[in-house]
Amino acid sequence: MTFDIRDPSALSAADRAHLIHPFLPAAAPGRVVMTEGRGCRLRDATGRTYLDATAGMWLCQIGHGRPEPARAAQDQMTRLEYSTNFWDFACDRTVELAARLADLAPPGIDHVFFTTGGSEGVEAALRMARYVHHRRGEPDRTWFLSRLGGYHGVGYGSGSVSGFPDFAEGFGPMLPHVHHLAAPYPYRSGAAGPAEVTDACVRELEAAVARIGPHRIAAMIGEPVMALGGMVAPPDDYWPRVTQVLRRHGILLILDEVVTAFGRLGDWFAGRRTGARADIIVTSKGLTSGYFPLGAVLTSGAVAEVLGRDTGFPVGHTYNGHPVGCAVALANLDIIESEKLLGAADTTGAYLADALRPLEQLDVVGEVRRTGLMLGIELVADKTDRRPLPHGTYSVADAVRTETGVLVRGGPHALTLAPPLIMTRDEADEAAEALHTVLARLTPDGE
Ligand code: PLP
Repeated sequence: MTFDIRDPSALSAADRAHLIHPFLPAAAPGRVVMTEGRGCRLRDATGRTYLDATAGMWLCQIGHGRPEPARAAQDQMTRLEYSTNFWDFACDRTVELAARLADLAPPGIDHVFFTTGGSEGVEAALRMARYVHHRRGEPDRTWFLSRLGGYHGVGYGSGSVSGFPDFAEGFGPMLPHVHHLAAPYPYRSGAAGPAEVTDACVRELEAAVARIGPHRIAAMIGEPVMALGGMVAPPDDYWPRVTQVLRRHGILLILDEVVTAFGRLGDWFAGRRTGARADIIVTSKGLTSGYFPLGAVLTSGAVAEVLGRDTGFPVGHTYNGHPVGCAVALANLDIIESEKLLGAADTTGAYLADALRPLEQLDVVGEVRRTGLMLGIELVADKTDRRPLPHGTYSVADAVRTETGVLVRGGPHALTLAPPLIMTRDEADEAAEALHTVLARLTPDGE
């Protein structure tokens, strides 16, 4: 099929004919075909512009359309476009990025295994956890603990530890030996306060460990702040207390920082702020701000030492530590550092949260919450019993986009915002006004 890519209707027709979209019925009427981006703005093929309060898929920390990563990619491609990391090979840029990440990581985390994205990183982390126990002489440690409402990707392993049962339906048997715990979700837990939320979660964790048997559990995986779950932050004492239980039983902690690392919560890594002490940290997204697909799994020296024994860690991908991705990541980290974007998560986040707070006066808004530059707007059919809208908030996000040109993301309970770290106050005001316009006329049945 040949067509003029400058013709929006031809583009839409070709899209419908050939492109399989995640989570879209083929019969859906419209397509939004993006063609350009600059800062927090995107433009589609029809010329319509959008304010991107989602930073793509929560990843574009430095804003769209920057020349620095493009220059880094071009320099690298013309010097050495590809080199493997297998065996004793490496590339100078890959080594440079590994050392840089080790410098930025929380104390004790100093080794890096590269991937091309988040799901692949979680797969690697799960394999690392089981393999480390196996090599330490505890091969029965094969169970994983995770949380309902946590999201970790779409591989058979990463999809199994994800806490969205709907996403697993129809795909046959998932990974066995996975136990899902309740999410520390203050708004929806029914607990009287944060202390009770943590108490209940720790009690449940201890009971699960006792039932499965501590000597059979490899690791627990969790996001410091649950992103797809609705930008849900646990109470302050949740991660320190969970970490204590896991350490007592020799269970590894895998922190999924695919969304939270590289500035989204005001630091390079969220674990520093949340008190979680990870053995393995999975990252991606903000590592390159989306300018190149790259992920990095960081491990403690102790984990790396075991993986490095004998014949080494028998897992690798062709694109492991891709030189172009690593060059782009270095340019991205330079921008985050030189433009002091880590601080923006708190200043811009607080400003945006203040602008959104009046939404809580509306009948359908149960709560506006924020951690760093991750914001959730909990939508309810009834404020008293906190019943969610019957069909989630996806169609509400669509309405915000169609009517106002502001991009936010829907979810099971909450609308979510995670804009680029460079968002201005005027843009934050614009996003808040757009949400007010649409939410003010929303009825409890979500229409
Ligand atoms: N982990 C978390 C916390 C995520 O939000 C995502 C994706 O959104 C993933 C893992 C999976 O990453 P990817 O989509 O790059 O495979």
